[in-house]
Amino acid sequence: MVFEGIVINKVAYKERDLIAKVLLRSGSVGSFYIYGGQGGGKSQKPTMFEFGSMMRLTIKETKTKKLDGAELFTVSEYVRTWEPQQLRYNIQAFYLCCLYFEILQKATLPLTSEQHYPVSQENEGIFSVVSNALFYLDDSLKKQNFDPAAHLSLFMVKLLFHLGIMPETGNCSYCGADLLESSGVIFQADQGQFACHHCVQGESQKGLFLRVKKAYQTRYQDYALLEGFIFNECDKLIQFFCHHFHLRPLELKSYSLLFK
Ligand SMILES: [Zn+2]
Repeated sequence: MVFEGIVINKVAYKERDLIAKVLLRSGSVGSFYIYGGQGGGKSQKPTMFEFGSMMRLTIKETKTKKLDGAELFTVSEYVRTWEPQQLRYNIQAFYLCCLYFEILQKATLPLTSEQHYPVSQENEGIFSVVSNALFYLDDSLKKQNFDPAAHLSLFMVKLLFHLGIMPETGNCSYCGADLLESSGVIFQADQGQFACHHCVQGESQKGLFLRVKKAYQTRYQDYALLEGFIFNECDKLIQFFCHHFHLRPLELKSYSLLFK
């Protein structure tokens, strides 16, 4: 059986083995055991399992090992089909990907031997968000127009959409007023909704509202059209995500590296 997906976590195991978590096309995350996956050995082979690499993994049998309660599929063959070229040279882009991968591990379900065939494709959208996020992040580093705020906004908005929890950006959640016409718009991160300033008091976040709307309407390949995004503003979307999944933002390790 063959699986294809993106490496989002890896842990060295024993001398040369590796346990990798891979976001699969189906949108679930599989844990795979790879003998010799760390590379090295006599021929000093490098590991193929870099963060963000797209791998094609063949498993021999569907029987799984158990390690700390997680089911591990043993990989018999693997091929890397794509890898980011520039990611490792830009620390902020690298941390951004680490944040993406941490968020995904909180929002996705693990692949188990009972459900892995046939795999439901209902969360394919999540895979396409992540593969686009990595591809165009790498693309922007190559073209030297990397804008962390634009990338993080696009990722969060597209992910929230595919998780089915994208805030409504048309009308006020309370009175139904058109938010575009409202002079003040408030984002309620604990409820994941926008409200007009007649219904909710507070400092207007119309800028955030307009940028969220813009990111929602922008295709990944057009990322360069997103201008004037503010990095700290993305924090609101992460707070909403965390609230929805009953997490504290600081439980995401890369969060504190990016938001100080
Ligand atoms: Zn209202």
